[in-house]
Amino acid sequence: MIRCDALIVGGGPAGSTAARALRRAGLDVIVLDKAAFPRDKTCAGWITPPVLDLLELDVDDYRRTREFQPITGFRVGQIGGPLIESNYNRPVSFAIRRCEFDNYLLQRSGAKLQLGEPLRTFERHDNLWRINNEIETPLLIGAGGHFCPIARKLNESSEAAQPLVAAQEVEFEMSPAQAARCNVDPNLPELFFCPDLTGYGWCVRKHNHLNVGLGREDPRALSQHVARFVDQLKKSSRIPPDTPAKFHGHAYILYTHTRPQRIADGTLLIGDAAGLAHPRTGEGIRTAIESALLAAQTVISADGNYARAQLTPYTTALAKNFGPPESQNNWFAHIPLRIKQALAARLFATRWFTRKVVLDRWFLAAS
Ligand SMILES: Cc1cc2nc3c(=O)[nH]c(=O)nc-3n(C[C@H](O)[C@H](O)[C@H](O)COP(=O)(O)OP(=O)(O)OC[C@H]3O[C@@H](n4cnc5c(N)ncnc54)[C@H](O)[C@@H]3O)c2cc1C
Repeated sequence: MIRCDALIVGGGPAGSTAARALRRAGLDVIVLDKAAFPRDKTCAGWITPPVLDLLELDVDDYRRTREFQPITGFRVGQIGGPLIESNYNRPVSFAIRRCEFDNYLLQRSGAKLQLGEPLRTFERHDNLWRINNEIETPLLIGAGGHFCPIARKLNESSEAAQPLVAAQEVEFEMSPAQAARCNVDPNLPELFFCPDLTGYGWCVRKHNHLNVGLGREDPRALSQHVARFVDQLKKSSRIPPDTPAKFHGHAYILYTHTRPQRIADGTLLIGDAAGLAHPRTGEGIRTAIESALLAAQTVISADGNYARAQLTPYTTALAKNFGPPESQNNWFAHIPLRIKQALAARLFATRWFTRKVVLDRWFLAAS
């Protein structure tokens, strides 16, 4: 039997950040991931400046051999409507490729890595977790993303009722001919909101890589919505006509629809496993990193005693950091949907709303 101080399931941004913070505090950490890295993750790859600070990222080192596209503004509108450009004339965000980003963070974490190996079993005896019948640890951190088996176990009773965002996306390297027929400016990603107010689509260009996707809070008929969206992008010559048709699907839970249980004896959930994506934008890389750092602080202070009560500072810190989950019963929820839709159609056609509300308040808040 292998022993370690902490076993982290999942080597995405949440898992690698927690691993690094715990290694720095002297803990013996293993990260277990079912995927062999580098692995891809369905994601537009948009990150905000606080992510760089939280990660203490050596940007010069990172960008030397990896994609790191500065974003100086956005084009925003509704699907089928006009796009309004807001240019900040300085980098306000960046675009990375998840296959590169996640691998870089995991390799620099300093943890022992068991990759290409899924979590098969986890049982608890005498304050110790036994994982896959080969590892024993007092602390199990669930960082397995939306499908994290530890999160599922902790929230068994409430799982059926969880509303979520379902998304489909493709990222591919354009040939020179495709790049010539792509009218998306790498500095200005494009955001297209659904007229029924259930989500948004995007085109993010990272030099010659193009990422196109659509996420909706209503998962019904997602493939048809994606097909119509892509069709419009092609007709308006925004993306190449031979953009690959095979989109990959994934899901995540917004902080508004949050999973109630994030701790148990000897257990913490971080990142998507804890349901922390930003309620308006779906930004989840930053919340994954923030929650990992908060969890690591709690673990270090707990000094080996991982009873549930010792881990509550983590949930208190999450509430302080992310605020109370937004009430579904605010005044806006009571306005009839067709009035909201009509109002949104007008607002999305204005420079003020797309810049001051969509970008400054939602997408770039606190950047
Ligand atoms: C289509 C789409 C676009 C998005 N775009 C953005 C964006 O542009 N910017 C942004 O900030 N956020 C975006 N997000 C959200 C963001 O991708 C996630 O919030 C983020 O990846 C969460 O990180 P994580 O470390 O919690 O989980 P993940 O990155 O999902 O990592 C989880 C890891 O756990 C491993 N794992 C899962 N199950 C097991 C198991 N049983 N055993 C072992 N290992 C396991 C997986 O292999 C994976 O490596 C997007 C999400 C989607 C779906």
